[in-house]
Amino acid sequence: MSVAVVLFTSDLRVHDQPVLRAAVDGADEVVPLFVRDTGIAAAGFDAPNRRAFLADCLVSLDASLRKRGGRLVVRSGEVVEEVCRVVRETGAREVHVAAGVSRYAVRREDRLRTELERAGCALVAYDAVVTAVPPGRITPSGKDHFAVFTPYFHRWEETGRRATAAAPRSVRVPPVNGEPLPERDAVEGVSPGLARGGEDRARERLASWLADGIGAYGNRHDDLAGDATSRLSPYLHFGCLSPVELVQRAERLSGPGAEAFVRQLAWRDFHHQVLAARPESSWSDYRTRGDRWRTDDKEIAAWRAGRTGWPIVDAAMRQLLHEGWMHNRGRLLAASFLTKTLYVDWRVGARHFLELLVDGDIADNQLNWQWVAGTGTDTRPNRVLNPLAQARRFDPRGAYVRRWVPELAGLAGPSVHEPWKVTGADRARLDYPDPVVDLSEGRDRFARARDLGSGPG
Ligand code: FAD
Repeated sequence: MSVAVVLFTSDLRVHDQPVLRAAVDGADEVVPLFVRDTGIAAAGFDAPNRRAFLADCLVSLDASLRKRGGRLVVRSGEVVEEVCRVVRETGAREVHVAAGVSRYAVRREDRLRTELERAGCALVAYDAVVTAVPPGRITPSGKDHFAVFTPYFHRWEETGRRATAAAPRSVRVPPVNGEPLPERDAVEGVSPGLARGGEDRARERLASWLADGIGAYGNRHDDLAGDATSRLSPYLHFGCLSPVELVQRAERLSGPGAEAFVRQLAWRDFHHQVLAARPESSWSDYRTRGDRWRTDDKEIAAWRAGRTGWPIVDAAMRQLLHEGWMHNRGRLLAASFLTKTLYVDWRVGARHFLELLVDGDIADNQLNWQWVAGTGTDTRPNRVLNPLAQARRFDPRGAYVRRWVPELAGLAGPSVHEPWKVTGADRARLDYPDPVVDLSEGRDRFARARDLGSGPG
């Protein structure tokens, strides 16, 4: 009787799951294992919103495995030690895992390989499970990664992709102990509007997105109030959906909406290949600009709480607090406001986002923050987004602000973007702060700091 272990990490699904598929095809019995990694908690990545969403994902994965005659085995501890323990207990000869991208995942994989070899067990790692195109698969000549998105995207589009793997029909699990599944309701400090996790919900959302949503994506993805993006990011982060399957299904639809959507999925791969080649860019400037960032605790607290006095920024920050998720245009605005208008270190913002975002991802979060701060891969690193101009453009009727900033809900139409224009007794009744910063002062300060002469480009 041959036994293999499948170590689930960021790939919590059974559909297009090459790791599970190969293990089931190659061994008589399989241990589908998830280790609640105490190292991640110690590193501060174990934020309540993601922990709650993860609990849903594990319940859903267990249910899918049970439908196939198996179950999920959950353990807690140091991952390498726990995997080795399961290997000893079951006599497994192979451990299958998705290849890691972050420094943390790569180191874990290296240690696992070494320890398993000592125990006479092989580690088999699979590419194109966490991303559609694996980091390092495409590179510019003489370099180890692409530093600019557009040339990366052209190569990415031409790159062949693996075939999708059908979900296994049956999974036989040997006798082995596990812990009870974690419960979402046991997690404290969760955002009240947090989405439910799990592969079943991910596939429902995907089906409705492909049938009715993606077609209008090209025109509507920046419409803040319309909320017309896929909201698939948390499911991609936890691997409830396969990026390979997603790209293939979107490509089959064709049309401007599908094309724009596939391009965004390529951004995800792009950031992963940057992080894989430059792991230090998770917390260090990818391209340093010699910034001497400001620290102003009151301004930072106002930004976090959604009380900067700039309604569009505050709306975005409050969406984050309430849902553990924020619209992409909101993320761009909130990040530009912090790093450029207030000139506060991008790491302060990235850390706050990681504490709350259900899709909080070390590659996508840190490198998007760097992109906005101009220390990353943006070819126009000194652009500053004007929150008022952005509000008029992407929330023209003010519906997004009214939704998230109830103090301003009584203001009509686009006047909601300029509450300081309200005067007299009406102003006194508005429980809403004055702007923490004047936009032109912020802009001039940034231009001086970056030594831009006549002003930011
Ligand atoms: P859609 O617009 O429907 O896009 C589909 C998918 O494409 C997304 O689910 C995502 O996987 C990918 N995608 C889209 N835009 C980007 C992008 N700019 N970079 C990388 N992938 C992208 N995304 C995360 O998944 N995790 C993060 O931690 C994260 N932090 C961010 C921080 C900042 C400051 C900024 C500006 C962006 C961040 N993003 C992050 C990227 C983007 O905002 C989200 O992926 C997107 O808003 C998720 O919503 P959606 O699934 O509806 O996206």
